[in-house]
Amino acid sequence: MTAPLVNKLSSFSAEARNRRRAGRRRAYILRSVARALLPHERVSWCGRRVVMADVAIRVKEGHARWSGLQTCASVWQCPACSQLIAAERAEELRTMGERHTKAGGTLYMAAFTFSHKKWHTLLPREGERAHPDFVGPMPAMNGLRDDVTLMWSKMIAGRRWQAMKAAAGVVGIVRALEVTHGKNGWHPHIHALFALDHADDARAAAFGVELFERWDATVQRHGYAACNPAVWRWEKAANYDAAADYVVKGAFDLELTRGHMKLAKGGGRSPWQLLEDAGAGDRRAARLFQEFARAFKGARQVTWSYGLKARYGIDEREDGEITAAEAGEVIGRIPARIYSRIAFKGNCAAVLEAAEDQGWPGVVHLLKGWGLYWVGPPDHFLAGMKGNPRGGRHGQYWAA
Ligand SMILES: [Zn+2]
Repeated sequence: MTAPLVNKLSSFSAEARNRRRAGRRRAYILRSVARALLPHERVSWCGRRVVMADVAIRVKEGHARWSGLQTCASVWQCPACSQLIAAERAEELRTMGERHTKAGGTLYMAAFTFSHKKWHTLLPREGERAHPDFVGPMPAMNGLRDDVTLMWSKMIAGRRWQAMKAAAGVVGIVRALEVTHGKNGWHPHIHALFALDHADDARAAAFGVELFERWDATVQRHGYAACNPAVWRWEKAANYDAAADYVVKGAFDLELTRGHMKLAKGGGRSPWQLLEDAGAGDRRAARLFQEFARAFKGARQVTWSYGLKARYGIDEREDGEITAAEAGEVIGRIPARIYSRIAFKGNCAAVLEAAEDQGWPGVVHLLKGWGLYWVGPPDHFLAGMKGNPRGGRHGQYWAA
């Protein structure tokens, strides 16, 4: 998939807006499925708990967001938070890509997969974890999740790797951990972006071949079968949008229809598709999502090699900072109890759409239509916060 989704997202075309909205609606619906499946995880209260007495709607560049809600910031378990985080990560990658390309460099995309059996589990079975120095012959003793990252870190370590990297002109690497579930069970893999300091295609192609050989050797040393060169992907990114999309496509997955994704993933289901099927009554998908969520909790999704962010002046931001960020202008505030009723009915996305189309009057109109009224400012304004909430230029409250 090479369509520059990210670029389209930042434009204001109706198509981009509709796709973005469909993605948000789907994310909210899937989050409610995740809440039901993971009642003891952070996602269970994400978007439900109100920090203060009211919830604000903020609008930035035509995009509305709720503010004043507690969010879970879990990239693996929460479609809504994952979507916000991935959009920011895509921006960082675009910035890096733009600066890197201007400096004369190129970006290459590679997928690191390995073949495994249906019975391989994501986490080690009870009492089976291998000694850290253990190598082969029994694969998956650490579980697939740890094995894929372990093999990756072994591949990019050592003197030989340093020499290879220097010869190929690798400035830095960004890698993303992904997993799908298909007919051969769980399929964890790594999508990586290599920033090379030159535009010499032949030199890059030679490095691609070496890279595959090194990955294949590492995989076999860990007891897995030889990698299939036919599925090896080493490809120059057409532009930095394609590059960004390649690394953080999890969020854009939410904007695509099922048909697209089935084709794109060769029959494997992404975690969000498992959630969707679970919501439609597929009990096996529900169990698989629970297994996935338990296994991937705490794993790092996107990792930049040391010094790459600093080189291109990109700030470090934690996932939690992104979901809690309060960007944009407050157009209005809704008391917590009214918000609860909106959330309970599953209308959070509809309210944001009204805010984007018609601003605060649109929100008021919609809420009135649902019979939701309130009188006066929320409590914390009464406790002496500055400003006159009633007389604000946005007409923040209205009386019943
Ligand atoms: Zn969340």
